[in-house]
Amino acid sequence: MQQVDHVVIGAGAMGAATAWELTRRGRSVALIEQFGAAHKNGSSHGGTRIFRLSYRSSLYTDLATLALPDWREMEEATGSHLLEQNGQLDHGYQEAIDDIARSLDRHNRSYERFSPDEAQARWPGMNFDSHVLYSPEGGRCFSDKTVSTLIDQTRILGADVKLETKVISVDLDGDYAIVETANETFRTPSVVVAAGAWVNKLVGHLVKLPKLVVDAGQPAHFQPSANLADETYWPSFLHHGANGRGGSPLEASAYGLYTPGEGFKIGTWSDREAIDPDNRDFSISEPYLEGMKDYVREWFPGLDVDSAVATTCLFTNTPDEHFIIDRKGPITVCSPCSGHGFKFVPTIGKMTADLAMGGNQKTPEWRLPS
Ligand SMILES: Cc1cc2nc3c(=O)[nH]c(=O)nc-3n(C[C@H](O)[C@H](O)[C@H](O)COP(=O)(O)OP(=O)(O)OC[C@H]3O[C@@H](n4cnc5c(N)ncnc54)[C@H](O)[C@@H]3O)c2cc1C
Repeated sequence: MQQVDHVVIGAGAMGAATAWELTRRGRSVALIEQFGAAHKNGSSHGGTRIFRLSYRSSLYTDLATLALPDWREMEEATGSHLLEQNGQLDHGYQEAIDDIARSLDRHNRSYERFSPDEAQARWPGMNFDSHVLYSPEGGRCFSDKTVSTLIDQTRILGADVKLETKVISVDLDGDYAIVETANETFRTPSVVVAAGAWVNKLVGHLVKLPKLVVDAGQPAHFQPSANLADETYWPSFLHHGANGRGGSPLEASAYGLYTPGEGFKIGTWSDREAIDPDNRDFSISEPYLEGMKDYVREWFPGLDVDSAVATTCLFTNTPDEHFIIDRKGPITVCSPCSGHGFKFVPTIGKMTADLAMGGNQKTPEWRLPS
């Protein structure tokens, strides 16, 4: 039986960040991932994710404000360029944009507000809804590169990184967790379950979780027209449209950002079906893609609608779109799901490492249900 300070299950963004953090704190760590590094079957793959401070909820502006220096520290420690602050636009109904402005004011962060015409003159590839806010500190994280870098660095620092290794079961033995793969059994005082869409399957029998719904998002990349090929025309954006989610942390009817070499990525929301992450066909929904093209026709005069290349990616949704980052006995669950966790990667890695080393979750929104 293997003995380590911590077993971390899942080498997506959150597990890799937690394993890296624990390892650099001098702990012995086994990081176990059922697929390869930066694979395409979970939630963390693809070239980019939005980084933004501009949340309606002060809780997440606060977290993103903490994340900013953490990203820079992670870049320095790993020698990799992982975050680019090329700007973030929020546009939509007044209440949403006013809330974002208040949230940024509370944290003393800079922003500019524009009328739709003023914004269109500056970013001619987009049309804008009634209220517009530009946050120069927003931008994009390089997601595949972040995950691969963290896995590599965790291994270099001495952790036991096991790829293509599925955890078959997690059980309790007093204050210890027993973690089994096909070939090995670990007995550990701390298991971090950063299993994304699989968290319920792995520890739903040991820990009370909120109701989790897994579904597949279908973003697509579009090519800018030749006169707008310069990346500076394409900051990241969130559209708080009439069919947004009404004040939840994610709150938007559409989002997008520029991925170098791939074009401008756009995602829209619609009612999606719950799926089983182990039984998924990865097919592209043509009706959904057509709906997205209609959206692009209306809001993006500078994108070529026919250039769309779509992909799928798993969302794990909590009912309130808050994260689950909490510990119960030897089990720490780290599931910053619901589609907006990536921008906080280094900070969530630190928070989860603190919990795994015996800390308590101080933020009620991220606790496990009692
Ligand atoms: C389409 C889309 C767009 C997004 N856009 C943004 C954005 O713009 N900005 C932002 O901040 N966030 C965004 N997010 C959210 C962000 O990407 C996620 O919050 C984050 O990637 C979740 O990482 P994770 O490590 O929790 O999950 P995952 O990346 O899914 O990692 C979980 C890992 O656990 C492994 N695993 C599961 N079960 C086992 C087992 N039994 N044994 C071994 N390994 C196991 C899985 O294989 C997987 O690798 C988006 C998400 C999606 C889907």
